[in-house]
Amino acid sequence: MVLGALAAVLVVHTAAHGTGVGDAAYLIGNTGAAALGWWALGTVDRARRGAWRLIVVGVTANALAEWAWQVHTWTAGEPPTVSTADVFWIVSYLALFAGLLQLLHGGSSERRDIDGLIDMAVMGIVAVLLVWPYAIETVFADDTVSRGVQAVWVSYPILDSILFGLVLRALASRRARTETSALLGLGAIAWLGADFAYMFVASAPSYSVWLDNGWIVGAVLIGASVWQRADRQPLDERAPERVGVGRIALGFLPLLVPAGLETWYFTHGDEINPWPLLVATAALLALGFARSLRLARAHDRARAELELRERYYETLSRHASDAVLVLDGRGHIRHVSPSPTAVFGDSTQASGFVHPDDLELALQTFAQAIEHPGLVFECEVRARPNGDGVSWYAARIISLLHDPNVEGVVVNLHDVTERKVLSAELEHRAFHDALTGLANRALLRDRVEHAAERAERTGGGLALVYLDLDRFKLVNDTLGHDAGDEVLREIARRLRRVVRRSDTVARLGGDEFAILVEDSRHARREAEHMAERIVEILRTPVRVIGRDVTMSASIGIASDLESPAASLLRHADVAMYRAKDAGDGVPVLYDPSMRGGVAERFELETDIFGVVERNELRLVYQPVVALETGALVGFEALVRWDHPGRGTIGPDTFIPIAEANGSIVPIGQWVLREACRTASHWQRAYPEARGMAITVNVSARQLAHPDFVDDVERTLAETGLAAGSLVLEMTETVLVRDAVTTAQRLRVLHDLGVGLAIDDFGTGYSSLSYLRQFPVDILKIDRSFVSGITGAEFPAILRGLLDLGRTLQLETIAEGVETEQERDRLRAEGCGFAQGFLFATPLDAAEAELLLVELEPGVLPWRRARESRPA
Ligand code: C2E
Ligand code: CA
Ligand code: CA
Repeated sequence: MVLGALAAVLVVHTAAHGTGVGDAAYLIGNTGAAALGWWALGTVDRARRGAWRLIVVGVTANALAEWAWQVHTWTAGEPPTVSTADVFWIVSYLALFAGLLQLLHGGSSERRDIDGLIDMAVMGIVAVLLVWPYAIETVFADDTVSRGVQAVWVSYPILDSILFGLVLRALASRRARTETSALLGLGAIAWLGADFAYMFVASAPSYSVWLDNGWIVGAVLIGASVWQRADRQPLDERAPERVGVGRIALGFLPLLVPAGLETWYFTHGDEINPWPLLVATAALLALGFARSLRLARAHDRARAELELRERYYETLSRHASDAVLVLDGRGHIRHVSPSPTAVFGDSTQASGFVHPDDLELALQTFAQAIEHPGLVFECEVRARPNGDGVSWYAARIISLLHDPNVEGVVVNLHDVTERKVLSAELEHRAFHDALTGLANRALLRDRVEHAAERAERTGGGLALVYLDLDRFKLVNDTLGHDAGDEVLREIARRLRRVVRRSDTVARLGGDEFAILVEDSRHARREAEHMAERIVEILRTPVRVIGRDVTMSASIGIASDLESPAASLLRHADVAMYRAKDAGDGVPVLYDPSMRGGVAERFELETDIFGVVERNELRLVYQPVVALETGALVGFEALVRWDHPGRGTIGPDTFIPIAEANGSIVPIGQWVLREACRTASHWQRAYPEARGMAITVNVSARQLAHPDFVDDVERTLAETGLAAGSLVLEMTETVLVRDAVTTAQRLRVLHDLGVGLAIDDFGTGYSSLSYLRQFPVDILKIDRSFVSGITGAEFPAILRGLLDLGRTLQLETIAEGVETEQERDRLRAEGCGFAQGFLFATPLDAAEAELLLVELEPGVLPWRRARESRPA
């Protein structure tokens, strides 16, 4: 429709040129262009409307100028030399410039703006130079008009030159090409063409109809360009502008123009005023210089940034050999950096380096990455064996096939062999008894649960044999601990011999063992039979340090499916105590009438409800010290239950009960509030304590509670403790359960500034990969590792844990430090902090308060790690 109207206007105008009808058509064309612009402005989104509005104002001012000119011509009978029309025209230019500039530079960096302006100025100057002798010098030479009129006339070629520079610049910029539509460019070119043509052929009336048509077309095109199609491609905010030969040439080639012009006039025998050429050359030189200077600066800056980044990555990968591969869509290696030929050999296919057993996983992950371009997929695979053991790599795969800068699948390989070895060792430790190599309590419980499930499905049976050595303490006391350990090892060996392969033998601690009999229809009978055999094999004396020791055991058996699997252990335990009481070495089978040992637990279970209301809980505080300086840095809050009838009960006894029946939630809230309140009070009372940390234990069930994060936030607000002073401790088990929700909650807390520590690190599930999923700050190395430090020995696994902390930039706190030797060795191996009886036992609040003056004011030492770590 717009096209139809435009064609009609053009036809009428051309046919009736020089008449009133022709003039009317001209005015209608220009006015219509402005109206079109205002209407189209409604389709522009808010962010860009300002720029486009300026352009529409430009078109409108142009229409007003035309009207003013016409009215003048009609009333005066001849065209005016200078009139209000010129004011509108100049406004029209200015509005157009402003709008174009905004479109061109909207959102881009200031630096690029300046470069763009320089380019524009260069092109503007060239344009002015080209039109100078025709449009400017002649005007100044014309003495019949005043200086003022001369100035107005001269301003047009100059404004046109600037517009010319702007349009050229817009066409050269990738960014602006997407932003300003082709219509706008065409419109501006139509206007410019008509303007420049006018300067050269102003006096020839036969052309003027075509010039007028050019102006109409220009106005309508610009008006129409405002209209934005809804499906326009979103603009690429960061379309990079390359600094190539072209851009540099742009700075200097224009310098040829003045000399070229001079030569031209010289060979044509024209006289020319040299001053404009000289001034222009100087200006172009200055601009070219500024442009090169900025290019050089930008280049230096880019290089410095690159170096910084390289150094950063180098630091990060110092512990391991990272490699980046770029593959094509079928897995062919296109690029490797840096090229660890030892890993890749001369294979050209990435799969050639993966261990055959992990190939399927690798290919699956690769296929997923291809399917979801732009998303990162991860897997851990072994490298194809090449002589020196197994190497593990964590691979992060992202498909950037669609990205024109890469057009490949990027694979980042990170050597995780050390971590895998450590993790395998920790896992073994987590489920096995270090002394005998038998399963431990955790593994046994796990096996019992699985066996119970299986038995329920298949109708098979299961039974548990529980044995406790009689008078074992005597062996320890008379022959020493080493002899005691040897006896335990020998008994473990014998127990292994009496069981079938499918049975599990476990050491539950001290001198207690258990055997799970599963997958047997006659489990109970088999267990009884096994118990007899055990009695039998114990008759043979054990020979240690040249002496024969004869051991006996009390044996209990449980075999029931009605009650939950967990009670199987408890029932076997109860039966074993019966056997011990009887003292005749005869194995005892559990029956429900034996409740004895359970009673105590029942009592606590009921008593524990309401401990908070009855005010029976109390906190004690164990100091945490920095190993390097020996300075006190904070306290761990530990809970105690002052039971009215039974005296003080430790958390190891009542926390599991509280966790089982849910009363841990109010207990945990109380502990948190009390600890924060005390710490806040200390911080206010002692200036030295301002940088002090208070660490609070949190159990799984607390964290699982939906209000937990809110609780912490509220408690901090109400007690006035800074989030940065609080550290929450939780065990690995907490993290493994419902990892996604947990990670979310922890992230919120971490963002608040609360520190997070992994308690008893190394004893749990030990899938070390969770350390990267959770925002952890501190690893608390479990006491069992610390007590492994003896004489010259520093356990390799402890060194591995400290190393892991360093690699992940986490602080480490060693728990349960009891001797100076342990402290010194830990310090030498780079452990940051410690707590333990060597420094102080858990103290009452009043005792702890006496230590506060020893605190060193300042930032919490372990927060430094967090702040220096990149997000
Ligand atoms: P934990 O978090 O590993 O706390 C350290 C335990 O080791 C404390 O026992 C402490 O008294 C003891 N300990 C400290 N230094 C040494 C040392 O040098 N040698 C030895 N042998 N032991 C040392 P406690 O206070 O009986 O706490 C036992 C466990 O109960 C804690 O282990 C923690 O898991 C849990 N617990 C304590 N308070 C709370 C609490 O408020 N909430 C929750 N959910 N759990 C708590
Ligand atoms: Ca703890
Ligand atoms: Ca601990």
